[in-house]
Amino acid sequence: MTATAVRFAPSPTGLLHVGNARTALITWLWARHSGGTALLRLDDTDTERSTAEFAEAIERDLAWLGLGWDRRARQSDRSDRYVAAIAGLKEAGFLYPCYETPEELALKRKQQLQRRLPPLYDRAALNLTAQDRRRLEAEGRRPHWRFRLVHEPIEWTDLVRGPVHFLGADLSDPVLIREDGRPLYHLCSVLDDIDFGITHVVRGEDHVANTAAHVQMFQALEAEPPAFAHLPLIVDAEGKGLSKRLGSLSLAHLRDDEGLEPMAVASLLARLGTADPIEPFASLAPLVDSFSFGRFARAAPKFDQEELSRLNARILHETAFADAAGRLAALGLAGADEAFWQAVRPNLSRMSDVGTWWQVVHGAVPVFADDPELAGIAADTMPPEPWDHETWGQWTTTLKSASGRKGRALFRPLRLALTGREDGPELRLLLPLIGHARAAARLTAAAGAATVK
Ligand code: GLU
Repeated sequence: MTATAVRFAPSPTGLLHVGNARTALITWLWARHSGGTALLRLDDTDTERSTAEFAEAIERDLAWLGLGWDRRARQSDRSDRYVAAIAGLKEAGFLYPCYETPEELALKRKQQLQRRLPPLYDRAALNLTAQDRRRLEAEGRRPHWRFRLVHEPIEWTDLVRGPVHFLGADLSDPVLIREDGRPLYHLCSVLDDIDFGITHVVRGEDHVANTAAHVQMFQALEAEPPAFAHLPLIVDAEGKGLSKRLGSLSLAHLRDDEGLEPMAVASLLARLGTADPIEPFASLAPLVDSFSFGRFARAAPKFDQEELSRLNARILHETAFADAAGRLAALGLAGADEAFWQAVRPNLSRMSDVGTWWQVVHGAVPVFADDPELAGIAADTMPPEPWDHETWGQWTTTLKSASGRKGRALFRPLRLALTGREDGPELRLLLPLIGHARAAARLTAAAGAATVK
């Protein structure tokens, strides 16, 4: 059996968003699950819109998600190969020159739509004589070249969609070469997939008609088409396409502005639209193990930002100190140790929330005059250090009888005085971190404040 070889083929014309990141992840999971190789290919034939910055951003975003690649390629490096293939395809009669301008083609499409006809290319250029072509070229027109599809059934068994059936006659002959001679996506993609021995192409279902044309192109190039998996496109909670919101759903935004964990994004995207439960995973390994194309449903999966936030919190709550330490240091909290992490971890929704709790432990906190008398008694009965996780329980038992307060009347004012907040991490864990000196100062401040009625 041939080893699996897959590719993820983004165009460096924009940032990766949850839609194409999902394609990348699923492609990669399949490669790792099947013990195959994963190629990162930059589809950068559109030189006007492709930039080095977007190429770098794509690399960075994929690395953030934890996806490593065995091979890399970019289409801009392979022009010679495309030129040679074009010559062969022309010679074998698979391509024909067309002279319509974009405006003329748009007008044709408009007229077809008005007549409720599918907007397919009408193949008018096939009727041009050599003389017609000379006349058009004398006008200064340069041809673009289309691949002549054979009007017969095109069929494959899709790994997600099952049996797929197209008729060649239902498709427009794809344009493979521009007026300026440069090859376009369809040709480069098929040639690359052949040359890199790609065995499985995973892409969004918006490409399914392209795939049908590609199947015939593989045949024209005397290659066996790979297996195809077309994923239904993600929609929002109302069932609408994500295209308008994609800016806010870029990986860069989720990472830099939302402060989300890569494994929250990966956990959601790997399982979205599958029969498997969406759960927080700490690493990609279990997702690799459980991967199967057979688990994907045909229906469009809904992307829910709330679900992503919930996963993010659950992942943080399980993150070990060893995995968090570097991130804490990067946030400027070099002094944050394991005890701090264990205390605050259950109260994090985002990693950046640690700053709030660091401030609660080490910084100045607002003074609350909720129950100054209790604060005074607490200050007087503070046990001597060293403090550990038992200290809080012992101290509050003493305070209960010393103050005559219990339950909420005891714990709420104490928390307010010690942390300046109504809620937060367990005081049992927080108290030793705050320490005697700061706790004493905070209680004394609260005891001295006038009660606000
Ligand atoms: N560059 C194409 C895209 O981003 C690749 C699609 C494909 O061939 O799978 O849509």
